[in-house]
Amino acid sequence: MDSAQAYVIVGGSAAGMAAAQAIRQRDPAAGITVLSEEADAPYFRPLIPYLVSGRKQAADMMLAGSGPYTGQNIQVWTDARVAAVDCNAQTVTLADGRQLGYGKILFATGSRPFLPPEIRGTDIEGVFALRTLDDARRMAKRAEVTRRAVMLGGGLLNLKAAFALLERGIRVTLVVFSPEVLSQLMDPDDALLIRRALDQAGLEIRTGSAAREIMRDQSGVCAVGLDDGSEIACQMVCIGKGVRPNVDFLAGSGVRTGGGIVADRFTACNQPNTFAAGDVAVTYEPVSGRPIMTALWTNAVEMGRCAGLNMAGVPTVYSGTFGILNATQVADMPFVAMGTVHTRNLDAEIHRHASADAYRKLVFDAEGRRLVGAVLVGDITNAGIYRYLIREKRDITAVKRQIVRHRLHYGHLLAI
Ligand SMILES: Cc1cc2nc3c(=O)[nH]c(=O)nc-3n(C[C@H](O)[C@H](O)[C@H](O)COP(=O)(O)OP(=O)(O)OC[C@H]3O[C@@H](n4cnc5c(N)ncnc54)[C@H](O)[C@@H]3O)c2cc1C
Repeated sequence: MDSAQAYVIVGGSAAGMAAAQAIRQRDPAAGITVLSEEADAPYFRPLIPYLVSGRKQAADMMLAGSGPYTGQNIQVWTDARVAAVDCNAQTVTLADGRQLGYGKILFATGSRPFLPPEIRGTDIEGVFALRTLDDARRMAKRAEVTRRAVMLGGGLLNLKAAFALLERGIRVTLVVFSPEVLSQLMDPDDALLIRRALDQAGLEIRTGSAAREIMRDQSGVCAVGLDDGSEIACQMVCIGKGVRPNVDFLAGSGVRTGGGIVADRFTACNQPNTFAAGDVAVTYEPVSGRPIMTALWTNAVEMGRCAGLNMAGVPTVYSGTFGILNATQVADMPFVAMGTVHTRNLDAEIHRHASADAYRKLVFDAEGRRLVGAVLVGDITNAGIYRYLIREKRDITAVKRQIVRHRLHYGHLLAI
């Protein structure tokens, strides 16, 4: 064994680095080693589309030295892929054969893109799934010889990648199997304003279509074949079909996985001195209590910090997160989707309001006493209050009129 560290963190991103910081604040002297399989030092993953568009350089995205992510004697090993964990011996083995002992270990390995096996040709040059800084670099390089790109999947990450390419003057076609974009975050009717903004921005969208095959010529990808028999000629394909948690390295370790790595309310796993946080962890939804996984930087930081405190001996409950909680913007259109948002055939009371530049859907339980979900597009004021009401399951009867008219303010909370 090379050495032993009091704290080993597998994964040097949102959750892993937040945990390292939290440990360092409570334990000024202990050895902390972060292991990351990527060649790059830790960086802000949500910014990588800007490397593709050319708006930012990799150096602008680094975590070290920014905000709370300052040195503090935390060792970060890059190019350090963990291949196996032995929970009895409390050691990890790296892919290159090195071994490291640990007192406590955090699994913060995030997720990787899912490449649907039914689509042939996903390994052809010029086919991407944007996840890492290295993917972004390779996409930016390929963009230099790309006149048209095809994006497979209408989720948020693919929309971000699509806009990065549009900004470079590339013609972009989005192929979506669902009836509308962003189907994980809202019903088709809720997405109409966003769809209009995407159309105006010049994104071509083909809904209700699936890719069958990606085709190649001597310079890499040259076309995508769709299930209706048509083909779209292109020089780049980007696949955004969801992610899968990075749990393979835990095979045989005894650490319980089920979808992702199962963590309790104190972020601990089933083996002694093991913890999990971030995209890879199975956590729970505060409204329903059911297990869920999320894919948000802010959630990963919050859970990572919580895990760090628990590892450093400060018992801290992770309060869970909504299965759906997203606040961002696409095509300059801000939107928030949170809680229960898919309402087809749902026994619920729903209030919708649409104007030329704003849309909102408020979802109450069947009795109309609790807010359980909200979609706000264009005007996202009050999102924080709605989030609080949903999360705390407050009886909102006394302020329901204000909520429905979108006139709620923090003062009204005193009445409930
Ligand atoms: C293009 C893009 C845009 C995004 N935009 C947003 C946004 O606007 N807002 C938002 O909230 N979220 C966004 N996200 C999601 C957000 O980036 C993730 O939720 C967040 O990065 C999760 O953090 P994490 O620490 O759990 O895992 P990750 O960031 O996935 O990091 C996992 C770490 O584990 C390491 N690792 C994996 N396996 C091993 C192994 N076996 N051994 C050693 N190291 C390993 C990796 O190298 C990496 O360091 C975006 C994601 C992408 C890809």
